[in-house]
Amino acid sequence: MENKVYGIEKTRNIGIVAHIDAGKTTTSERILFYTGVSHKLGEVHEGEAVMDWMDQERERGITITSAATTCFWTPTYRDKDKTYEHRINLIDTPGHIDFTVEVKRSLRVLDGAVVVFDGVSGVEPQSETNWRYADEYKVPRLCFINKLDRLGASFDKSFESIKSRLTSNAIALQVPIGTEADFEGIIDLLKMKAYRFEGDRGENIIEMPIPENLKEEVAAKRAILMEKIVENDESAMNDYLEGKEIPLENLKKMLRRCVLDLTIVPVLCGSAYKNKGVQLVLDAVIDYLPSPADLPPVKGNDLKTGADVLRHPNDQEPFAALAFKIAADPFVGTLTFFRVYSGVLSKGSYILNATKDNQERAGRILRMHANSREEVDELRAGQIGALVGLKNTTTGDTLCSPDHPIILERISFPEPVIFQKISPESKADQEKMGVALKRLADEDPTFRVTGDPETGETIIAGMGELHLEVLVERMKREFTVNATAGRPQVAYKETITSSASAEGKYIKQSGGRGQYGHVRLKIEALERGKGFEFVDAIKGGVVPREYIPAVEKGVKEFLSKGISAGFPVVDIKVTLYDGSYHDVDSSEIAFKIAASMCMQEGCQNAKPVLLEPIMKVQVIVPSEYIGDITGDISSKRGKIESIEDRINTKVVDSTIPLSEMFGYATKLRSMTQGRGVFTMEFGHYEIAPKNIETAIIAGRK
Ligand code: GDP
Repeated sequence: MENKVYGIEKTRNIGIVAHIDAGKTTTSERILFYTGVSHKLGEVHEGEAVMDWMDQERERGITITSAATTCFWTPTYRDKDKTYEHRINLIDTPGHIDFTVEVKRSLRVLDGAVVVFDGVSGVEPQSETNWRYADEYKVPRLCFINKLDRLGASFDKSFESIKSRLTSNAIALQVPIGTEADFEGIIDLLKMKAYRFEGDRGENIIEMPIPENLKEEVAAKRAILMEKIVENDESAMNDYLEGKEIPLENLKKMLRRCVLDLTIVPVLCGSAYKNKGVQLVLDAVIDYLPSPADLPPVKGNDLKTGADVLRHPNDQEPFAALAFKIAADPFVGTLTFFRVYSGVLSKGSYILNATKDNQERAGRILRMHANSREEVDELRAGQIGALVGLKNTTTGDTLCSPDHPIILERISFPEPVIFQKISPESKADQEKMGVALKRLADEDPTFRVTGDPETGETIIAGMGELHLEVLVERMKREFTVNATAGRPQVAYKETITSSASAEGKYIKQSGGRGQYGHVRLKIEALERGKGFEFVDAIKGGVVPREYIPAVEKGVKEFLSKGISAGFPVVDIKVTLYDGSYHDVDSSEIAFKIAASMCMQEGCQNAKPVLLEPIMKVQVIVPSEYIGDITGDISSKRGKIESIEDRINTKVVDSTIPLSEMFGYATKLRSMTQGRGVFTMEFGHYEIAPKNIETAIIAGRK
């Protein structure tokens, strides 16, 4: 099908971000419908055929659930001009903010976003979280106030909620003609044109005069838009103040600059369901959201030299890409979705997975469309596609040219804070479970699977109760594994708070093969988050070099088993500074055991403590519940960081130990009659109070 080469400046990688129920699915569906119409495929006939495939797709479940869907759009104002055709890669973003990692990961690979709001409720508490992530990643945005046909919808109120709660840079780019049942059309304030949408699915856009009764409002709102656009351009400012006409093309360019700089967030409107306005959103995506070429180069680390390097979004640079999603496809197997940041990937070439340090072959390269998949020979800088059948690539890995190894700035994933035992029901389930868990872990970097070496049990770990619940559910449903999950538990860690030196001897010299391992270790606490450091300070070969790795191994094994409570030990520095050996009896195993014994003694003397995960929790509730909420947070050993006032609501930011947060969703619901919402993400590890520590250690025994 599509063999045309689209220049990078004619590509848009965008995501549609929305609070659940705001209309993301409906808007995406309409986008695929209109782009399908504008870009008819093969021999299909007008309109109907497109409808046909839509219906078929609906039966089979449309592929907009694909991690990235490619479509094409020629802006409405250049209907006939094919040179204006653009490629839009629609990147799936999750609606549910419990999966913050998913949100962050999609924000990492998209260049711009359309944020959809419900025109009745405006900004909803949970929209704010996603908005803040998009701020963090500096993603240029458009807002789309949807559902203007609904009873109680108001463009102005929704717009004000965006302005007061999300960004003061929000500027109306459109004005609706009528609302609720009378919602008829849309006026573009830059072009000063009004449109109606006709045909079964609003596919015919009809220009209409700006209604008389709206002229005043339009003039006032246009003035706000114009002033903001010319603000940073002196000559345009003068022209504007002198009442000179500024050509539309120039205005568009200036507005585009402002959107890319995040100094303007244009606000559009419509009703996806009633087929009004979505095409104008697509026009705005082309006009105002960045192409990959508009973005700064990506940062990476040269694997050969260790130097920081920049890769620019062009085809001449060496190939570098980021795998951002692994998906199991019923037809072709594993699909690895990736974004090319620089260079070109050709089918059949070898690529290096720089993160895992192994080579793979780029077999088939696919682009996913709404109704088909297209096999392509190459994928260029700025593009998004999927590789079929990669074996050792997981989410977040860098794929690059083997001659120019580079690791791109990682998507940082938080460590799992909750774990759970999981037991298969039968031998057959055991095998299936292994496969299923590996698959799920490949897809989701915050989901870990480990075996408990002592009991042989399988342990899964993740970001929260809900996270594990969903994954266990998927394992049962998609992989038909019968298994029971244990109680979710907090992933504590252990560390030490002072330093100690210790000696470990493992010597057996009577009967059978002798053993001789002897070490002295100095153990010190490291700053929180620093992990583990091993220093070899042996002088004069008192511990022969060949045994030093065994000492380190013994230390690590001890650390994985824990000091008092069986949780991994972190933030610790261990220095091997003395020891002795025996010419005949010394062995790796003897040194490993000696090191482990030495650690046991040393750590006990270095004031061990338990670390517990502390979560950042934001609760948003109607003002009348604030007392109950803060009281409850205090009773959970929580600390309140701030309380912000909103109209009729309060936003409470706090930190609370994870162990106190089990079942909070239910509790909050009952405390606020279902009107409170909360978000939670990992913050840091902190020393647990003694009484908690004692109880946990007792519980583990
Ligand atoms: P998502 O959860 O954000 O993907 O939202 P959906 O697209 O599934 O929409 C949620 C509900 O709102 C569905 O029942 C839609 O039919 C409805 N909906 C979506 N857009 C509109 C709209 O423009 N007007 C009206 N009245 N309903 C809409």
